[in-house]
Amino acid sequence: MIDTNVCKDCKTKDCISKTYHYKFTARSCTSELYPAKISDNRSCILCGQCHKSCTKDNIAIQKQRFATDLFTDIKLSWAEIAFFMIVSSFVVYEIFVEWSVSKKIIMAIPGWINHSLNVSGCLTGTINAISLFVILPLIFYMIFVIIKKVIAKESLKRSFTQIVLAILPVTASMHLLKSVLKTTSRIPYWDFAFSDPKGVKTALLLTNNPELLNTDILAIISPYIGIIAILLSIGGIVLSIIIIRKQQFENRTSKIITVIAVFVYAGIFLITLTVWRMF
Ligand code: SF4
Ligand code: SF4
Repeated sequence: MIDTNVCKDCKTKDCISKTYHYKFTARSCTSELYPAKISDNRSCILCGQCHKSCTKDNIAIQKQRFATDLFTDIKLSWAEIAFFMIVSSFVVYEIFVEWSVSKKIIMAIPGWINHSLNVSGCLTGTINAISLFVILPLIFYMIFVIIKKVIAKESLKRSFTQIVLAILPVTASMHLLKSVLKTTSRIPYWDFAFSDPKGVKTALLLTNNPELLNTDILAIISPYIGIIAILLSIGGIVLSIIIIRKQQFENRTSKIITVIAVFVYAGIFLITLTVWRMF
């Protein structure tokens, strides 16, 4: 927003006018936001339509420093907190399933629950998802939140918010790593992708003759992926620490508990990736 006074005096309100909802370009905001009142970019999908629709030319697109919003005192809703908790646990699963040893470890608890409840068939997937993405993260976050509440007298919601935001960079960096692992593991298939775009013949050919897949390239890039993995973990931790330094805490104890939560979460990745890629 260039000048909030212009918005106050604006009679047409093109940026939210229902008349312009269905225009092909220069639509009014269809995300039910009022651009003049947006305080951060959590709800805005950055479609830029309000920028085009404003007839007073009062909306500017400006660059800001990397992760600036994370350094402010963000107040998350419970839905956002729950979303971050699920995403942070999902990323643990994403990385762990890439290595057979860590896959066995992470699937042990849901496997045990399925076995104990005598669950079989497609319902096992539901139990896996509930255990990995709801129960385990809830236990992890609750431990630190309760310690914060009891020892540091931090409120429940603020504790959750502080921890999920502090952990977010590690989650994001590991999600980025997952994309690196996924894309690089597909390199041996590139030749076939061009010669057989539909892939049916290739799938049959490789199923019957797996030795035809040349995986030499994976051995060459493997050490570099290992280095990227460790660097991404460390990068995530560094950004987390910067966020914690900017966060507002009730006291020093609350801050230390958040740091410990980040180190425990990041440590899960660091130890797994180091053992997997370096030994
Ligand atoms: S952004 Fe533009 S159209 Fe929207 S209220 Fe402000 S001046 Fe009016
Ligand atoms: S950029 Fe954001 S505020 Fe503007 S129209 Fe799109 S969603 Fe709405």
